[in-house]
Amino acid sequence: MNAIIYIRVSTTEQAELGYSLKAQEEICLEYAKRNNYEVTKIFKEKGESAKTSNRTELQNLLKYIKQNNKNIDAIIVYKLDRLSRDAYDSLSLRILFEGLGIKLKSVTEPFDNSAFGKFNANLFSILAQLDNDIRSERTIIGMKQAVKEGRWVWQAPFGYEFIERDNKSYLVPSKEKDVVVKIFTDFINGKKQFEIIEELKKIYNISLSKQKINHILKNPVYIGKIKTNFFKDLIDSVHKSIIDEITFYKAQDILDNKSKRIYKSDKTKEFPLRKFLYCPKCNKKLTGSWSKGRNKKYPYYHCTTKGCKYKPLKKENAEKIFIDYLKQLEPSKELITKFVRAVKNIKKEQEEYEAKRIKKINGDLLELEKKKNRIEELVIEGTFDKTRFNKKINEVEEEIVKKRIELDDLQKEIVDTDDLLKYGEHFLKNISKLWLSSDIEYKRKLQDMIFPEGIYIEDEKLRTTKKATIFKVFEVKKDKESNLAPRVGLEPTTLRLTAECSTIELSGNSDGTIWYYSI
Ligand SMILES: [Zn+2]
Repeated sequence: MNAIIYIRVSTTEQAELGYSLKAQEEICLEYAKRNNYEVTKIFKEKGESAKTSNRTELQNLLKYIKQNNKNIDAIIVYKLDRLSRDAYDSLSLRILFEGLGIKLKSVTEPFDNSAFGKFNANLFSILAQLDNDIRSERTIIGMKQAVKEGRWVWQAPFGYEFIERDNKSYLVPSKEKDVVVKIFTDFINGKKQFEIIEELKKIYNISLSKQKINHILKNPVYIGKIKTNFFKDLIDSVHKSIIDEITFYKAQDILDNKSKRIYKSDKTKEFPLRKFLYCPKCNKKLTGSWSKGRNKKYPYYHCTTKGCKYKPLKKENAEKIFIDYLKQLEPSKELITKFVRAVKNIKKEQEEYEAKRIKKINGDLLELEKKKNRIEELVIEGTFDKTRFNKKINEVEEEIVKKRIELDDLQKEIVDTDDLLKYGEHFLKNISKLWLSSDIEYKRKLQDMIFPEGIYIEDEKLRTTKKATIFKVFEVKKDKESNLAPRVGLEPTTLRLTAECSTIELSGNSDGTIWYYSI
């Protein structure tokens, strides 16, 4: 049997974890040997970008397997996330490999091509994806909370610096605070920006651009307020102001008169689906605008291609269609409960496997230590000379390092699935509500996560080319859902659910403890 190996390491991992390409390669080679595979080619990706499409070696691998698929039986990876951290990409690659009759083997994860193996592999991709999303959401929630409490969460603005108190950072005026005061006083006394710039250079020996000066003049941080996209109103901050409000608003008046455009409404804030909706006629991203009616103005999403026949969509209608679609995506409580139970069971099996593997490696390590001792004894006895000793001892040491890396990886795998699942459950049950109650930034994040390639609306109907993998899992025809209830009896139950583009198979014993699915 022939196999090819794909290994990758990002520059940070290489530096931080000592995960070298060499170590991964050796572990993969060993795995191949253990499983009777002849390795015909090795693809090594160094310091790659996270996006699958940007990885040269992965692209080369795909080209290679398309040309040589008859001579390849398996692709060996060190870990599934080496292939892709994105669930959809990972799944697409798996499907592609399977279509070509090639097995995907992960050295550190016990997957096979059975339904169980597939479930495991998909699950890991989905959890990895959720983990990513949660992290970014948590960051946003954390930031919002901090801002609500009046704390500044970005880089310290000019004139301030951070101090740490009770594990939280707070802004305090810095030495440059006098410069800020001078900028405001000079500006409201009629000095032009370029004059201010010159004086600052002379007096303080600092050079600020005109843009930077304007930025400072417009920033309410100096009157102790925070302006952010998170909230509509200015937030009272806990930091001290540098400028009094009268001075600040005077400066705003002067700036306003110079350029009326500063407070022009921002399109992106009013039209969350802008550039996310596509024109079904010409495939261009739609933009949002206000129509000029006789008495009233109406917001629309519309195509900007000259001569395109696509009729502008009322903003309200488009968003309603979108929300309705999101609602429809939300799986039933029953289905979610089953999914959660399945994940927990799989996780349990995974942990049992890991525990076994850890035990085995610990045993191997013990053996290797004994081997080291024996080699040392052989030197004392005079059987080994120095060269032979060095060679032997190096071999053993290398072996030990490899085992330790694997052990380290296995122990890191123990993540808090419960936490992930709770979030997943909440997320799946409330997608439409989450979207509705989110600010524009998170709305966009959600949209991109669920529909990575955008959406089309035609004849009042929504259509999309790609959906996040997690929804494929739940995308069951509503009328079939009732079949999901486990039948009472002793024989295993098998349920088949036909989804829009995939077949999901759930099977389990009668008490519903184990469920698998395959796509
Ligand atoms: Zn168009």
